[in-house]
Amino acid sequence: MLGLRHYRGTAIDLFQGDITSFVCDAMVNAANSSLRGGGGVDGAIHQVGGPSILEECVRIGRCETGDAVITTAGRLPAKKVIHTVGPIWRGGTEGEAELLYSSYQKSLHLAAESKLLHVAIPSISTGIYGYPVTDAAMVGMKSIKNFCDDKPQALRRITMVLFDSETYKAWQKALFTCFPEAEGDAT
Ligand code: ADP
Repeated sequence: MLGLRHYRGTAIDLFQGDITSFVCDAMVNAANSSLRGGGGVDGAIHQVGGPSILEECVRIGRCETGDAVITTAGRLPAKKVIHTVGPIWRGGTEGEAELLYSSYQKSLHLAAESKLLHVAIPSISTGIYGYPVTDAAMVGMKSIKNFCDDKPQALRRITMVLFDSETYKAWQKALFTCFPEAEGDAT
């Protein structure tokens, strides 16, 4: 299959489509700090998942950039939603890479701690928040790889769910750069 690697007991793969119909254990949302819903994937997750997600977000209150919180998944085909807040792109000199790296780390650790073994993640910060997708995909993939090094076998599968073909291609490049070996032999 195009876009699949196995690394330290975790499968890392790519899927082009709408994350709200993707069956998984933990669905990651590209949220904003207020956790009140918004546009893009955030809007779609709240719309499909229903009001129970927002109710729990309101109870939690806030999530800082680079951090992640967990709620019910409502009617979504997942057990939980993990809301992470990626950085707004401000030219690259405001710590954006570190914050984006942290968004992936926090989301993956939260999933592992909650025993949510299949995690689906959209391309955080590369829509409304304006992070250039080629750079964002490399930061995200490095964060995923480092997580697998720190916590081998903690997750069964990490799927990047990418909405459009340009985003898919950027993530495919990052996957092949971070895991250059042939599929299946990097464990
Ligand atoms: P951010 O504010 O973090 O940039 P966006 O939701 O605007 O978040 O965009 C992040 C990425 O999610 C973009 O690549 C966008 O095309 C994509 N996206 C939007 N809707 C969906 C969806 N339903 N499923 C998967 N990805 C989506």
